[in-house]
Amino acid sequence: MGMLAKCDILIIGAGAVGVGIARELSKFETDVLVVEKKDDVGGDATKSCSAMISTEFSVAPFTLESKICQASRPMYDLLCRDLDIPLVYRGSLTVALDEEQEKKIPAILKKAFDNGVYDVEYRRPEEVMEMEPNITPTNRGAVYSPRDTQINPFEFVIAQAENAAENGVRFLFDCPVTGMELAADGRIGKVLTPKGEIEAKYVINCAGLYCDDIAKMVGECDFKVNPRRGQFYLLDKETPVKVNHIIMPIATAKSRGTLIIPTVDGNILVGPTAEDYEDKTDKRTTREGLDLIASQAKTLVPDIRLGDTITQFVGLRPARTPEGYNILISEKVPGYVGISGIRSSGLTGSLGIAKYTIQMMREKLGLETVRKKGFIGKRRGIVRFSEATNAEREKLVAADPLYGHIVCRCEQVTEAEIVQAIRRPVGARTVDAVKRRVRAGMGRCQGGFCTPLVIDILARETGVPASEIRKRDGASYMLAREDKGMKQ
Ligand SMILES: Cc1cc2nc3c(=O)[nH]c(=O)nc-3n(C[C@H](O)[C@H](O)[C@H](O)COP(=O)(O)OP(=O)(O)OC[C@H]3O[C@@H](n4cnc5c(N)ncnc54)[C@H](O)[C@@H]3O)c2cc1C
Repeated sequence: MGMLAKCDILIIGAGAVGVGIARELSKFETDVLVVEKKDDVGGDATKSCSAMISTEFSVAPFTLESKICQASRPMYDLLCRDLDIPLVYRGSLTVALDEEQEKKIPAILKKAFDNGVYDVEYRRPEEVMEMEPNITPTNRGAVYSPRDTQINPFEFVIAQAENAAENGVRFLFDCPVTGMELAADGRIGKVLTPKGEIEAKYVINCAGLYCDDIAKMVGECDFKVNPRRGQFYLLDKETPVKVNHIIMPIATAKSRGTLIIPTVDGNILVGPTAEDYEDKTDKRTTREGLDLIASQAKTLVPDIRLGDTITQFVGLRPARTPEGYNILISEKVPGYVGISGIRSSGLTGSLGIAKYTIQMMREKLGLETVRKKGFIGKRRGIVRFSEATNAEREKLVAADPLYGHIVCRCEQVTEAEIVQAIRRPVGARTVDAVKRRVRAGMGRCQGGFCTPLVIDILARETGVPASEIRKRDGASYMLAREDKGMKQ
């Protein structure tokens, strides 16, 4: 196998954690490469989670997770401003449903205080009703946390990846790491992929659910990762029974329980479950799981309309045994950094994880971080036709006539937005990558109308036949094609 690339720092995995580290490193004079086994940035857990940017007032206090999440949360305001990522404060209500749960409220407030979250407050049942008219009138009060919110996880990662790429970070997709060879000095000599070998001074394992497989390649795996499944319903924007805040039940030891989340894009997200199992590839929803969510959601918001579901999906949390955030700066394999246990709060924690990991690499590995001349700190997002006023729309169409061609009717996405999604740094190459960037296919019909049009635009813009366009990673071709003499 020939040489594919050389770099100073190799990041394995382009989820929130890998891309967060890449963007942070892009501020410095160092050559960074991200390898990702899928077709796009956005990760695995990252793209299918509740996506709360939370104060994490309920994590175990005085742990690395608590420390990192508390450091991380305030960074969102400026990052979202600089990278043009929508962030709307909604706040959360953790609602007690009976006397037993009501008794737990003082302990929740105390835990929040121990986590350094001083702005959570108790709300009386009638105050809860005023804040949320659709909540159960038999509620027994709630914990209000004003700075909890939800973010679009795709935009969050894509914005950072685009900015990192503008600042020189390279990305390789459809490129799984399959092995590593140690050199005589104990460092990593070669990183193996089906596309060729990579040489790097430092290797950071951000492979989420698969971080144990990568850790085994260098003999640094004293833990196990198993998937903890979370099932969700996503409701149509037009559903009549909505909530203004993130509505949460009182958590159990294992999970936060079923949440009702008003997303930043105007949908209602309901879920997730928390089910431990072994198969990392099984992302099927189950009748039992969806029924459980439905019954739990109705205890909080009795009239919630789950019939307005536009899709159901599964996210797999990378649950570690033993539990907890773990950031290993290896002594056995100098240059290897292993990140594991980033299970439930990892979207919130990702910015802090990036800062913390780089600081540990400075302290323990002597990583030099010289500020890059000409670092570009800002990025503008794609202007959405659906959010523009009529006057703005006229200007958009005048500047680019493709803004006058609606491709996705449900979400009002134009051809101009799709073309930009493809042409930008770390541009979309698959139908799902377009969907994640501009929402074409995210609406009520879930791509039934626009998918063939998106395939044509992708083929035209990337100069390949339409039969080569995939839905996502792997051999997910969408049109019949000749492949090794076989019709697929
Ligand atoms: C149901 C659910 C709800 C959640 N809710 C929240 C929440 O509300 N708030 C919050 O902050 N967090 C939440 N989380 C947690 C959060 O989603 C994760 O902690 C975070 O996304 C982890 O990011 P990551 O980059 O470590 O992992 P991932 O996003 O899983 O990224 C890992 C990447 O590594 C790649 N990879 C794997 N193996 C290889 C290989 N061999 N070679 C190359 N690439 C490889 C994968 O393809 C993937 O892209 C939730 C998670 C789930 C599943």
